[in-house]
Order: sequence, then structure tokens, then C-alpha cells
Amino acid sequence: MKCIAIIGGGISGLTVLHYLKQRLGDTVEITLFEREASVGGTIRSFKNGPCLFEWGPNGFLDNQPATLELIKELGLTDQLIETQPTARRRYIQIKENLHAVPTTPLDLIQTPLLPLKDKWSLITGIFKKNTPKDCSINDYVSRRFSPRIAQTLVDPFISGIYAGDIKRLHMASAFPKFRRKSRMRSFRGGMGQIIEALDNRYQKHIQTNSEIIGDSSLLFDATIVATPAYAAAKIVENLNPGLSCLLEQIPYAPIAVAGLLFKQDSFKKKPDGFGYLVPSQANKDILGVLIESNVYANRARGEQVMMRVMMGGAHHPAIINDDKEQVIARAIREIDSVYGLSAAPLETFVKLWPKAIPQYEVNYPHWRRSIADQCAKTPGLYLCANYLDGISFNDCINNAKTLALSAGLLSSQSMR
Ligand SMILES: Cc1cc2nc3c(=O)[nH]c(=O)nc-3n(C[C@H](O)[C@H](O)[C@H](O)COP(=O)(O)OP(=O)(O)OC[C@H]3O[C@@H](n4cnc5c(N)ncnc54)[C@H](O)[C@@H]3O)c2cc1C
Repeated sequence: MKCIAIIGGGISGLTVLHYLKQRLGDTVEITLFEREASVGGTIRSFKNGPCLFEWGPNGFLDNQPATLELIKELGLTDQLIETQPTARRRYIQIKENLHAVPTTPLDLIQTPLLPLKDKWSLITGIFKKNTPKDCSINDYVSRRFSPRIAQTLVDPFISGIYAGDIKRLHMASAFPKFRRKSRMRSFRGGMGQIIEALDNRYQKHIQTNSEIIGDSSLLFDATIVATPAYAAAKIVENLNPGLSCLLEQIPYAPIAVAGLLFKQDSFKKKPDGFGYLVPSQANKDILGVLIESNVYANRARGEQVMMRVMMGGAHHPAIINDDKEQVIARAIREIDSVYGLSAAPLETFVKLWPKAIPQYEVNYPHWRRSIADQCAKTPGLYLCANYLDGISFNDCINNAKTLALSAGLLSSQSMR
């Protein structure tokens, strides 16, 4: 019987497993190898009594059909939840003050975030549709709209996704595509619920505590490497040194995530809305603050507030040298400076990601083509993870499904 290996049990690897099983049934032996004791990779939800801490993503937009189909196939559609009306307002922090992100034309006219000149460049920019996108996000937005719009509105928004630097990220590759009107969603039990469902369904095909190093993949007819790029570089080192060299080049931004649970009466100023983002020009190591219990129902008891403070990113990589106590202390100082604290948190959580998010920098299109060329030289070897063609939960599912169902992967010629 032919054998397929999937290396890496994040959402990418698990989705490949799901669709390969759906397509091939038991005609091929498929095994997923995961380095850690449990699958999920960047996705995990910790439930502690009534409060829930996400160590990675806290949601996804419901505009990607592949994600909604996978959720349906796993019987999780009735577990979907959407953001609460209390999360409608989002803020940007300028000089320690929170300003609402303008969402309507009237908001835009009235916002103190931009002077009149830049409001006007927002209007004129709408008509500059042919501005070239083969440049950094900063260059594109500055040319089409204005440098201030790039720094004040776009920089914090991109920081919230990539924890990255808009002067280095490639516009056409990194800027999110807005398909249609969408809502942010999660599951009743947090994002970890979809991982649990996949894990339960495919348990007999999953081997945890199994770090794959080097040439073990040669033993399989086809191998899908669904690990981060730096881990994939080691796996393919002997098989395809040129590919390995390319995989080592993709930079990652670090993130420290602190979760804090407070009693509602611990604040002088009530934490309002979704939370806030911090532009990089503030030169703070805080990327943003999410008021999780405003975003989704049941993330804390009624009289409690659950928050996450995101820190570090491409501008502040040193955050990863802090220990967990220092990260919590920084997070508390930030919350105190904005909302005024009269009491310590009831619970704290920390997750440090030294290599959190791959950065699609300005050379990304060239790098991506070289990766495809190198992969073609090693039949039976496939790459699938968030450093290729999109970092979001939705992108990972869509790309993994496309790979698993592609004729190339299933044809006998492509298998050794
Ligand atoms: C803090 C944070 C917040 C985020 N928030 C959002 C959000 O709100 N919305 C959104 O859409 N996206 C968000 N993302 C991005 C999204 O979560 C990730 O891009 C996605 O989950 C990555 O999935 P993956 O399977 O490609 O990789 P990973 O999740 O990194 O999984 C790779 C797996 O490979 C395993 N592995 C590594 N080396 C080996 C080896 N040698 N052998 C075997 N196994 C190995 C790892 O242990 C891991 O389980 C966030 C990411 C982070 C870090």
C-alpha cells in the first residue's frame, strides 16, 4: 500500500489530513507526525473555570467558503459564535489617548486622527486605482493616499495581523484581500475546538511527540511538510539543499501574548469595544490590547473582564528575552496607563512565540517562485503552511484543501 506522510499538526497539516482521508479513504496509508505532545500548532484555547485564554488566533472572518465547509464537515456549524455588538468600536492609541477607528464617511470627516489634508488625500486616493503594488505597503499607501495615512491607519492594522513592519512587507503579497462583507467568528469553546474535532476524528492517523528530522521522509511515497519554514529547512536539508537554503530565508516576527482576567470594578475607566492597536511610531513594545470578553460572550464571568495584551513584533524583537513575569508586568503597566487599575488581575496567562508570524517582505514574489521551482525538482515532496500564500487561519485551510485535492498530489507519477 502507498504511504503518505504529513509533517506538522497545525491547522494546515490537519486540513491536509482531513481532505486526503476524504479523497482517498483507506486506499493509502496516511500518517501525520507532530513534534509536540498535542496537535494545533499556533492554535490552542485554555479554559480555566469560566475564562478562556487563546494563545494564538482568537477568530477568523466568515468570508472564506473553504473554512465554513470544513467546519460543516466536522459538525461544528452550531458551535460557531460571532463577535458581540459591544466589540463594534475599535481604537487606535495616539499619545496615550484612544481614538475610535473611523468606519463611516462621516466618522472620517470628524476623526481627529487625521488633519484635513490627509482626509482629502483619502478621497483623491480612491481614484488612483492603478498605483503599482510591487512595493512595500508603506510605499503603496503613501503614494496612493499619504504617508500619514500609512503611519496612522495602516501601520497599526497591519501590526495587528503580521506584527510586522509596513516598510518591509510586500503590498501585493501581505495586504489582506477583502472579499466581501464579513463577520469575525470563533467557536463556543474557542479556536481550539476545531483542532479537538480534527484530532478526535483522525486520532489513529496522528503520531504526537514525533519530531521529524532529516531524511525520514524518503521512506514515504509522498510527504507534505506542514511545519514552519525554519523547521521545513532542516527536514529537506539533505533531500534538496537549495530548497532548504530558501526556506531558511523567510523572517519571522516574535510575539508575546499576555492574558489577564480582572474583576469589572478594577478599572477607573471601563474597557470599551474590541480593544486598541498601537502605531509603531509610538515606539512602544505593545502591539495592541484585545478586550476578549467584549469580543465574544462567555470568555469570562459577567462581572469579570478578560483581556489579551499583544507585545513585541518586528519592531521590538527583544520582547522574547523577557521572562513570563516581566511580560505580565509590562501588560499590567499598559492596562493601568490606559484604563487605570485599582486591583491586580485574578488570573494571568502567558505565551511567548519567538517566531510567531512569517513576514512576506518585498522580495516575497521572487522567493515564492524560487520555492515552487525547487519543489518541482523533488517529486513527492510538498510544502503547505502559513509562510506560503497567506498567513490567516482561512488561508491555511484554503491552501491545505487545494493541495490535498489537487490532481498532482494524488497522481501515481508524483509519488515515488
Ligand atoms: C499570536 C498569534 C495570533 C494570531 N491570530 C490570528 C487571528 O486572530 N486570525 C487568523 O486568521 N490568524 C491568526 N494567526 C495566524 C494563524 O494562527 C497561523 O498562521 C496558523 O494557525 C498557522 O498554521 P500552520 O498549520 O500553517 O502552522 P503552525 O500552527 O505553526 O503548525 C505547525 C506545526 O508543525 C509542528 N512541527 C514543527 N517542526 C516539526 C517537526 N520537525 N516534526 C514534526 N512536527 C513539527 C509544530 O509543532 C506545529 O504543531 C495568529 C498567529 C499567532 C502566532
